[in-house]
Amino acid sequence: MTHAATHEVFNQSPAFEDVDLFTCDQPLVGAVKATAGQAAASELAAFGRHWGSAAMAERGRLANENPPKLRTFDAKGFRRDHVEFHPSYHELMAHSAHAGLHNSTWAANGGPAGQGAEVLRAARFFMAAQVETGHLCPITMTRAAVGALAVDPELLGRLMPVLGSRAYDPSFAPWSAKRGMTIGMGMTEKQGGTDVRANMTRAEGAGGHYRITGHKWFMSAPMCDAFLVLAQAPGGLTCFFMPRFTPDGQVNAIHFQRLKDKLGNRSNASSEVEFTEAYALRLGAEGRGIATIIQMVSLTRQDCAIASAGLMRSGLAHALHHARHRSVFQKHLADQPLMRSVLADMALQVEATTALVMRLCHAFDLASSSALEAARMRLLTPAVKYWVCKSAPGFLYEAMECLGGNGYVEEGILARHYREAPVNAIWEGSGNVMCLDVLRALSREHEAARGVIEVLRNETAGLPGAAEALSFVANSLRSADSERVARMAVEKLALVAAAAALNAIDADHAALFATTRLAGDRGEFLGAADLTSEQCRRLLARALPEI
Ligand SMILES: Cc1cc2nc3c(=O)[nH]c(=O)nc-3n(C[C@H](O)[C@H](O)[C@H](O)COP(=O)(O)OP(=O)(O)OC[C@H]3O[C@@H](n4cnc5c(N)ncnc54)[C@H](O)[C@@H]3O)c2cc1C
Repeated sequence: MTHAATHEVFNQSPAFEDVDLFTCDQPLVGAVKATAGQAAASELAAFGRHWGSAAMAERGRLANENPPKLRTFDAKGFRRDHVEFHPSYHELMAHSAHAGLHNSTWAANGGPAGQGAEVLRAARFFMAAQVETGHLCPITMTRAAVGALAVDPELLGRLMPVLGSRAYDPSFAPWSAKRGMTIGMGMTEKQGGTDVRANMTRAEGAGGHYRITGHKWFMSAPMCDAFLVLAQAPGGLTCFFMPRFTPDGQVNAIHFQRLKDKLGNRSNASSEVEFTEAYALRLGAEGRGIATIIQMVSLTRQDCAIASAGLMRSGLAHALHHARHRSVFQKHLADQPLMRSVLADMALQVEATTALVMRLCHAFDLASSSALEAARMRLLTPAVKYWVCKSAPGFLYEAMECLGGNGYVEEGILARHYREAPVNAIWEGSGNVMCLDVLRALSREHEAARGVIEVLRNETAGLPGAAEALSFVANSLRSADSERVARMAVEKLALVAAAAALNAIDADHAALFATTRLAGDRGEFLGAADLTSEQCRRLLARALPEI
């Protein structure tokens, strides 16, 4: 309790800081145990304590209150094309790199690391997203770029010693001279982001390399050491590796026009850029640009879902923590039956979301050894990205409301989470595009997709509404006008996949999730569900121990 000039300050919740983001999150502990075992539990707890510290929260605040600045020219008019970040941003990057968030799913040769690496990294990424998401953009893209670089083993072999390092090196120097590096991507142009075939940027062969001229309308993390970009080569749309420096050590002709003034994601810079005969190496065959870069995009989509799940978890934890300390009408908010219903329904949503994203990452872990898991990964990545990322903004709004007015002010983290939440649904394939991608998987890999639906049917046998939902998915996505109902079908597919993932961890909560989300016994908003007192008690106890 502290004294202000006219009164004592009391009945405010203490800061939700200096907590172990892993151990205090039993749904996460359970989801990791079910998919990757318990061997890494103490390492994850150490990561959770570090990222749950007040010091890391402060870095997140500072990195967002001091957004990056573009220094286009120096005082004498020479081009600099340099973006300056607050020191806290660099510290966040260093901590994430040190933990291998940008590379731990890859072995030294750039192949899959195996041994549950996807799930273990996802658990860390999920916790880091609760603290600061902006810096995770280059972290995500760097990790994902390896998927596309695999098409060129010679180039990948040269890059891996630097990409595989856990050092963060923010110096502005050629990648080959650095201790660590990051990679961004440039696809979106003014006339089209989804429709990349409309790209106008041109690539001309120049004897062993290409010269690229054109623009990109969104190119995030412009201080990356290289970018994978799409451009029209003589043989069609092609993917290129474009470093910040040319091999002779000159700064490459990558000219930043300005930085976007964004709703959220403010610690991260997103540039508009012009290339003027910029040096680049071809990645994959001419005309195979989309097929090449999609290997990167599927990994960034996975991370969008993990990060949105992390944001929701953070919203739940802050809401529940506050409600346990704040009294209204002589009772803690967390003991008011109506607030308990809201919090418990939120806890159920996050428990299912956490199980779902970790199960998806498990499929990524198993994809190279199991055709069925590869099909699961292919079909469910867009469905999970669609449902999780689109759930997050509404969920965070509800979390904010649990804190009342305190939730709405910028000193708290929830306002920042709320402004951040929509971007994961918009970039890397917006909502409709994800639904179309599920349709594409169903039509092009029909047998494999049917196999996944059958597995989901078994995994959810007996859960209310699951069989009906899967029949709807199978029938509507096969129909001639499947696009018309694609959102409804993809949402049902994601809900069934979430129920299946939860069923492997906690059958009671899976049944509750299915009853309320699949069998239709629930209103429109969080908390509009008929949960018993005992169900609420159990959900909230698992969500967060009393701190
Ligand atoms: C903060 C931020 C950072 C970004 N960083 C990068 C980056 O680093 N690199 C990069 O390349 N891009 C980046 N982007 C761009 C982003 O990926 C695109 O904005 C996104 O892919 C959508 O493309 P668009 O903006 O051209 O919208 P459009 O393609 O015009 O889409 C508009 C809407 O139409 C829908 N739609 C599209 N096609 C169909 C269809 N056939 N049927 C029904 N609906 C459809 C979409 O779902 C969307 O809702 C960034 C965007 C943001 C906001």
